[in-house]
Amino acid sequence: MTDVIFSFLDFVQKISCAQCIPCRIGTKRMQEVLSEILAGSIDEDGERLLRLLAEDIGYSSKCDLGRLAGKSVDTCQENCVSL
Ligand code: SF4
Repeated sequence: MTDVIFSFLDFVQKISCAQCIPCRIGTKRMQEVLSEILAGSIDEDGERLLRLLAEDIGYSSKCDLGRLAGKSVDTCQENCVSL
């Protein structure tokens, strides 16, 4: 599931219009943290950072693209075993 979310964030960054920072920069930062998860080198601080980023991006992005990016990571972090 982490791979799917990582690819989705890649897609979001490609079509992001760059009008707001949560989507434009926040999704990139979430991807960096997900890379650490995929590499098996995440710690509690990293997990906490990912949760905060996902919540913030999910609520503060200007349109549904950024909101969906944040909420998909937030939902997956709550419900997926391996994220
Ligand atoms: S959330 Fe919407 S408005 Fe903000 S950068 Fe992404 S595409 Fe643009």
